[in-house]
Amino acid sequence: MFYLDSHCHLNDRRLCDEAEKIIEEAANADVKALLVIGWDLESSRQAAEIASKHDGVYAAVGFQPENLDTIDDSALEQIKMLAKNPKVIAIGEIGLDYYWNSDDETKAKQKKWFVRQLKLAAELGLPVSVHAREATQDIYDILKENDVPQKGVLHCYSGSAEMLKEFAKLGYYFGFDGPLTYKNAKEPKRSCLACPLDRLLSETDCPYLPPVPHRGETNYPSYIPLIVSEMAKIRQESEENIAKAIKNNFERLFHVKL
Ligand SMILES: [Zn+2]
Repeated sequence: MFYLDSHCHLNDRRLCDEAEKIIEEAANADVKALLVIGWDLESSRQAAEIASKHDGVYAAVGFQPENLDTIDDSALEQIKMLAKNPKVIAIGEIGLDYYWNSDDETKAKQKKWFVRQLKLAAELGLPVSVHAREATQDIYDILKENDVPQKGVLHCYSGSAEMLKEFAKLGYYFGFDGPLTYKNAKEPKRSCLACPLDRLLSETDCPYLPPVPHRGETNYPSYIPLIVSEMAKIRQESEENIAKAIKNNFERLFHVKL
């Protein structure tokens, strides 16, 4: 089997000291490709550094919407420089998050920098990794308005199954993670079932969102098989088929050969 984690944070302070060990444990669980995602300049730098040191490990660089305190033109210029590293295969995670704060000023700032980073991805010919929380409609409107030729993935997809079809029409992919395994997670299960097989991706978002039976613990890329197994159950397809489709999807979206 060939599994992969299309969204993990080995650059998180809880994981970065153990990155070597975590990558090895993932490989032992057949999780053979990892995409390490930045959320600001420093974490993007670290993501690129971890990726540079390991085969099968890639990086995405960008500013996540809850981490915009240090963003400015020069920070974005440095993201652009980092993106020239051949192991950097996406801009992300970028997007909108209205969960903690949804006043007009916050929304306007998040939208401004989301659009700027979408334009950067278009300019660099890279796909995007999109973070969306409590902001599905605004994300949709902005993605529709600002076409990224290489498209991207809606990571930890949390919109409805109906909206998923709309995003699919725009050319986007969908990442599912730990919450898929939670008993009460009806909407993610519906969305996973509605997702076209050629748009499906697996991810952990580790150290966050551990799948069952690891809830309350730190999450690791080696738990990916638990998520793919849940996908297989929901979609009534074999794990082999799903894992194979996910590998193809990752290669097609991020233009890498695994
Ligand atoms: Zn993330």
